[in-house]
Amino acid sequence: MEEIVKPLLAWYRKDHRVLPWRQQKNPYYIWISEIMLQQTRVEAVKPYFERFIQALPTVKDVAECPEEYLLKLWEGLGYYNRVRNIQKAAIQVQEQYEGQLPPDYEKLKALPGIGNYTAGAIASIAYDIPAPAVDGNVLRVYTRLLEDEEDILKQSVKTRVERELGKVIPKDSPGDFNQALMELGAMVCVPNGQPKCECCPLNQFCRAYSSGRQMELPIKKKKGKRRIEKKTILVIQDGERVAVSKRGSTGLLAGMYELPNLEGHRSEKEVLKWMTDGGMMPVRIQSVGEARHIFSHVEWDMRGYAIKVAALEESEQENLLFVEIEEAEKKYAIPAAFRAYTSYMNMRLGQESFSRENKIPEENGTGGNESENIKYNSSLL
Ligand code: SF4
Repeated sequence: MEEIVKPLLAWYRKDHRVLPWRQQKNPYYIWISEIMLQQTRVEAVKPYFERFIQALPTVKDVAECPEEYLLKLWEGLGYYNRVRNIQKAAIQVQEQYEGQLPPDYEKLKALPGIGNYTAGAIASIAYDIPAPAVDGNVLRVYTRLLEDEEDILKQSVKTRVERELGKVIPKDSPGDFNQALMELGAMVCVPNGQPKCECCPLNQFCRAYSSGRQMELPIKKKKGKRRIEKKTILVIQDGERVAVSKRGSTGLLAGMYELPNLEGHRSEKEVLKWMTDGGMMPVRIQSVGEARHIFSHVEWDMRGYAIKVAALEESEQENLLFVEIEEAEKKYAIPAAFRAYTSYMNMRLGQESFSRENKIPEENGTGGNESENIKYNSSLL
């Protein structure tokens, strides 16, 4: 592995992408960008990153930000627990380190939401600390270079790769070395389709290339099947306003807002009964199609209805809020899982809602493996 250092660095310094979070060695920028980049493509992250940094330029701003606005800034990126952990960590950094992320790998790792990879990225890129930063891109490059057939989903394999890379990471340019491996994995030793071995700076050292086994590696043992949940989504409008409700404080998409929905696939008749039982007066109902949204462990199989009602304020459904669409866009963080149905009423989510009016709302939704996957935005089928 020592042999790869020079050619890898030379290639990176000549040919790497210009990314907004890499323009200066700002640990806060590197931290936010690395958290956003987990499970999300670079191009999708760029506008979110710029908007986040513009709205919250310092760790202190994040620590003091109302949670609902924080979720609004993250709306559409999914895995909302990430941004809640960012805030928990920001509060600790404020209290323990005077608003500066500590220049120490172990102290970084002790902060909420920061694991080995993120700590290594911040430590090496911002502070020139020779710590490895091993993500999926790096694991792919490593296993192909060494024709390593271990399952990269195993923590023990990741730990071994971190240890091995830790031995060769150059002390005078650890940040460039880590970024070069990530960049090679993203641009040359790509995850989907054929790697571009002919133009890879490491092809002379690569065992998978010489044996022609690039496409067989890395080994990833398949996970279990996702659970499928059927849902009926209701777009309830009275002309000006739309009904939204707040999700519970624990579990999937905790604390986010959503369109009212019922378990299972319901008929028009069942939906109308549910509404009249709740004190609403439906005057028209129409099907608005089916959609699917894939989370990491669950898949929502959705059927939707648009319902016009006479007078929303008469509803006895305690959990429902009736808001104007622009107000919902500005103040209420609604996950991308509902995009097929919010689009139906021209409600914009995430980046789209901020591009309508490029300003911060005056006012402004935590834990575990809640995980909405932006790669699988729902769409009407
Ligand atoms: S030679 Fe091909 S398989 Fe090997 S590291 Fe380079 S791109 Fe990946």
